[in-house]
Amino acid sequence: MVKGFSISATAADHKAMLRDILEEVELTRYEIGKAALDARVMAAMAKVPRERFVGAYDRHRAFVNGPLPIGYGQTISQPYIVALMSDLLELMPDSVVLEVGTGSGYQSAVLAELVKHVYSIEIIGALASAADERLKELGYGNVTVRHGDGYHGWPELAPFDAIIVTAAAPYIPAPLVEQLKPGGRLVIPVGEPGGIQQLMLVEKRADGSVSSRSILMVAFVPLTRSQP
Ligand code: SAH
Repeated sequence: MVKGFSISATAADHKAMLRDILEEVELTRYEIGKAALDARVMAAMAKVPRERFVGAYDRHRAFVNGPLPIGYGQTISQPYIVALMSDLLELMPDSVVLEVGTGSGYQSAVLAELVKHVYSIEIIGALASAADERLKELGYGNVTVRHGDGYHGWPELAPFDAIIVTAAAPYIPAPLVEQLKPGGRLVIPVGEPGGIQQLMLVEKRADGSVSSRSILMVAFVPLTRSQP
């Protein structure tokens, strides 16, 4: 066995991750317009075992405040970004959320701690089934994972209280805005795939009108499209 291969992260590493998130929130407070995130979001970040969502080779550094590879050229997002995006959605315990880009299922688990139900779509079949299995093993009965192209959203289950896209799109997909409830929020990285994007917050008001604003510069893996 490779030395160090099975070394796991510790509870102290998990605490350090929470401190790193607080520090980065503080450093970006002028961009994100707040000096602290919702306490419920931070409690979810404290609860979800990130080491269960990364590969065995990365388990020892599962709580580093950065993205990590999850196979198929994809990554589990940086903890600070997971926390920030969850916070921006202003979730309620009875919210129903759509996630595009299940990946490892980590963001889905964080959301599952905060809302009634999470519907998540992943375009890579192997990642979708691995995440589904992992979430079930961890007892997240309120997450439903589907293999497919999330660009189209999940029209049969729409509208949603909130939608989160964890892959970068060149523009905001119209079907996702359509599938947002009045009063709902959509968070999505928009910009050049493979480069830097703007994390956009889209809000649908009670009268159905839509506004959007840029929150922060980010770097996400691209939103890909299924071939017809
Ligand atoms: N939320 C994930 C982050 C995964 S990275 C986590 O916590 O681990 C983004 C994911 O989006 C990748 O797994 C990628 O395969 C997926 N993806 C890219 N384009 C997609 C699309 N059109 N529909 C659904 N998933 C997509």
